[in-house]
Amino acid sequence: MNTLVLAYLVMQFVTHWKCLGGVPQLVVVSLDGFPKEQLSRHPWEHLTWVYAHGSHPRRFINQFPTKSFPNHFSIATGLYQESHGVVGNTVFDPNLKRILTIKDHELFTQNPGVMPLWTLNEQLGGHSGCIMWPGCDGPFNGRNVTYWEPYRGNATLTELVDLAVKWLTDSMTPANLVFVYHNQPDLAGHVYGPDSSYYSDELKKVDAGIGYLFQMLQLRGLRQSVDVVILSDHGTASVSAQTGIIDLNTVLNRNCIPSPAPPRCLISGLFKKDLYVYAKLQNGSRANHYRVFLKENPHMQAWHYKDNPRISSITLVAEIGYVFQDFRKYIKGYQEEGYPGLTETFGDHGYEVDNPSMEPIFVAVGPSFRKKFIAEDFSNVDVYPLVCVLLGLPPGPNNGSLDAINTMLARSIPLQLMPPILVALGTLVLWMLLSTQVT
Ligand SMILES: [Zn+2]
Repeated sequence: MNTLVLAYLVMQFVTHWKCLGGVPQLVVVSLDGFPKEQLSRHPWEHLTWVYAHGSHPRRFINQFPTKSFPNHFSIATGLYQESHGVVGNTVFDPNLKRILTIKDHELFTQNPGVMPLWTLNEQLGGHSGCIMWPGCDGPFNGRNVTYWEPYRGNATLTELVDLAVKWLTDSMTPANLVFVYHNQPDLAGHVYGPDSSYYSDELKKVDAGIGYLFQMLQLRGLRQSVDVVILSDHGTASVSAQTGIIDLNTVLNRNCIPSPAPPRCLISGLFKKDLYVYAKLQNGSRANHYRVFLKENPHMQAWHYKDNPRISSITLVAEIGYVFQDFRKYIKGYQEEGYPGLTETFGDHGYEVDNPSMEPIFVAVGPSFRKKFIAEDFSNVDVYPLVCVLLGLPPGPNNGSLDAINTMLARSIPLQLMPPILVALGTLVLWMLLSTQVT
């Protein structure tokens, strides 16, 4: 067989593949701290359109604690926090004997078997891009993503969209999976609280940024081919600096370890007499707005927040709207950074998942999704198997399920998996033809 015939076959194959929808491309946009309850509180020019043209669940369930890094990593791995090991934004690792923050990649690599979607995609020949997504800055299984943008606190959503579209349309190595992390409206929620005008202004900017994303996809001819998932990790709740701060020093003459997680407080196993400490804390909970749990408590089991040495023997959770005393450090930080218009009202998250103000958003739109469809409740660990189906990736071990999430798909899963199967078959046929020619 001569080279021309082989080239013709390749062209036929590529054409056929494109007819089937081409190489699937997916953009996952996380709007940190976007509470679902805000959807009914404001007029939305662009998000309303997205909801009308896509699918969403009745309730999108996040993981306890309702903090950013743990939930973003659950979305990327399909694992509960006790399984992937990112059990807080900041954790004390008893094996490493030190506190890990976002600056330490070890925060994300406690479990060596964990392979986030961006790595899985790269291993299967795809090109992944991550814009500021927690955990994506370092290698997994010895592999980095093709495209990476480090965190910039002042980056606008339109800037992030421009970057994502640039990667999707790269002529040499177009990304087929892009994770976009945006730090708003979370930041505005912390500094001003969700009932402030500053917060409303930020929501308007976020909505405009979403509009810009679809405008850019349209401009580049990608609107009909790229799937877009817009989600958040948690919501936010208003906190009064005057009445909402719980000082644990009045209960237990000791600060929480590690400290920077105000609504949730881990008392580490440094205490020898856990039960004595637990009894004192429980006694203190009668006069203060928090709950205290030993690891053995059924709640901890139900939250899948138990079986990991990074989770301490005692966990405290403040009631909604209350925080522990470490929050004062954050307030001081906002004052020192010179945010205008500061009041005595701030915001925070990390509370129990069942608080309505902690509920995040999820909406998916694009060729793979049904329009104006409402699915049953599903969890953020279910996003992992969804992405695997959309991109034809073989899922690793995960806690997710497709039971509810697959009802949003425009085509059934077997049909969804047909293109990758055809590609695999096509590649095999071409390889056989090529082998015949060589020998
Ligand atoms: Zn936050």
